[in-house]
Amino acid sequence: MLYATIFLNAALQKGFPMHEWALAEAIISSVSQIAEKEGLKEVKEVKIKVGELQQVEIDILEFALSELKMGKLKNAKFIVETVKAELRCRVCGEKWVFSKNELDEEKTEAIHFVPETVHAYIKCPRCGSPDFEILQGRGVWLESVRGVK
Ligand SMILES: [Zn+2]
Repeated sequence: MLYATIFLNAALQKGFPMHEWALAEAIISSVSQIAEKEGLKEVKEVKIKVGELQQVEIDILEFALSELKMGKLKNAKFIVETVKAELRCRVCGEKWVFSKNELDEEKTEAIHFVPETVHAYIKCPRCGSPDFEILQGRGVWLESVRGVK
């Protein structure tokens, strides 16, 4: 825990985004509750899904999870998967899957800091409208928790 605190200070100085650490804490707390409820002696594997449009740096989240895990989660393996964004055009009804990798770095950065700008950079591939809804690709959820009783 002390090490985690030291890293947090270092991270702050470097201007790293902090919200992955808060997210990792929330995940660990949820998994601990599940382990308690299910009567698990030890958690072996946790699968987490992260929507691609949910501004999360997977590397930092994985690092935070490995630093913060303790107790029944001490030996748990965390598997973080990204879920691609699925969008639907409000004008013509076209559905398509969007990958953040299709954007250049500058646009990805802009979306990272101001998520609303996503509408300025993504357009319907059929009619070109920027008016779309996000069907999938937001949020963070626990896919599965495996352990021994
Ligand atoms: Zn359209």
